[in-house]
Amino acid sequence: MQHRKRIPPAEAIQYLDSLLQDLHGQPESVTAANACGRVLAKSIVSDVSIPAFRRSMMDGFAVQAEDTSSADESSACTLRIVGTSMPGNGWTGNLQSGEAVRVMTGAPVPEAADAVVPFELTSTLPAGVRISSPIAAGKNVSEIGEDIRSGQQLLDAGRSLRPQDIGLLSATGCSEITVIRRPRIRLIITGSELLPAGTRPHGHRVADSNGPMLEALVSRDGGTSLFHGITPDDPDSIRELLEEGLRDKADVLLVSGGSSAGDEDFAPDLIAQLGELPVHGISMRPGAPAGIGRIGNCPVFLLPGNPVACLFAYDMFAARAVRQLGGRPQQWPYRPIESTLLKPLHSAIGRLDYARVRMSEEGIVPIAISGGSVLSSTTIADGFVLIPPETDRISAGDTARMWLYGG
Ligand code: AMP
Ligand code: MG
Repeated sequence: MQHRKRIPPAEAIQYLDSLLQDLHGQPESVTAANACGRVLAKSIVSDVSIPAFRRSMMDGFAVQAEDTSSADESSACTLRIVGTSMPGNGWTGNLQSGEAVRVMTGAPVPEAADAVVPFELTSTLPAGVRISSPIAAGKNVSEIGEDIRSGQQLLDAGRSLRPQDIGLLSATGCSEITVIRRPRIRLIITGSELLPAGTRPHGHRVADSNGPMLEALVSRDGGTSLFHGITPDDPDSIRELLEEGLRDKADVLLVSGGSSAGDEDFAPDLIAQLGELPVHGISMRPGAPAGIGRIGNCPVFLLPGNPVACLFAYDMFAARAVRQLGGRPQQWPYRPIESTLLKPLHSAIGRLDYARVRMSEEGIVPIAISGGSVLSSTTIADGFVLIPPETDRISAGDTARMWLYGG
């Protein structure tokens, strides 16, 4: 297949968004213990109040505040101790004026009591409990619904659940939580020269770095990778893997390597035969041989074999699909900062460039633009700067936006 004219990245994204328009994350139910980091499919409204009963916030004596109103050092009040209220095992009597009930933190406060005097502010005598300063009504009593009111919306749909969210939901009696199913991303890693990841490279062969890198990227974006090992540059094998991906009900297919127009590059024609490949050849560096198409309504991404190009093309296009299908915001999980560029960055009008850069005390230091095969340029970098298609340089001294790889 010959490259057509290279397509502007914005047009590639437009096509991608038209594909994604009809695709939505599917709900599934998980236990609270497995819900952390998952995306909530529906907003959650509490049907209980917490606390569900008037609860003591201190170890002390539940009293009627009025009884203590004139207490002071010279004329302390002494209240008769009529019972004890323990957490989960409240006192069932009827508190009267002049009486106190021992309560522990978390225990129900008797109905007629309206304050808890902490033990530290009391002394116990044979006749009862001595209190030498007044306590305000409501003190140390947590009222019903103070934390959560029944009918209150707790968490919004689309939220990525935090550990404390899991605690909150569990506290309201939620044990099954409806989240967006993780999208299933089939990885097809092609290259006759490839050795399985982790193999020591030898001869003229190279160990697969894209497979594990893509698995990590997919996992970062909330997807599940389906990866059954590398495949040689052989059209029948690649066709079989594309078809198998669809049979496996993959939500997205990612093809690494063989994406260009060389003798060994079969994937573009296969995708065009099985579906369509309207985006092939994109004005970006690295990553020009990238492509976007579909088979049925499953988006397919052609990612160049050169690892930096693979990373950039994934982040530019595939990440968008994975994140959206998993109910996540399309934005990158990279944090942007603005700072002064210390050396100029040159590009070409019409092309999007991915410049790996480092952060120094003084500003942003470019490392590399070209070199799509030099993966270490992305590991010594702290992040990257994009040089948009409409400009051909960012001058030294200009403010540039840098995206940080790390947090
Ligand atoms: P290709 O896109 O297949 O033309 O490959 C471009 C370059 O990337 C070649 O040098 C390949 O050996 C290399 N390459 C392809 N796939 C991988 C991979 N999975 N891991 C590391 N390098 C790769
Ligand atoms: Mg190849």
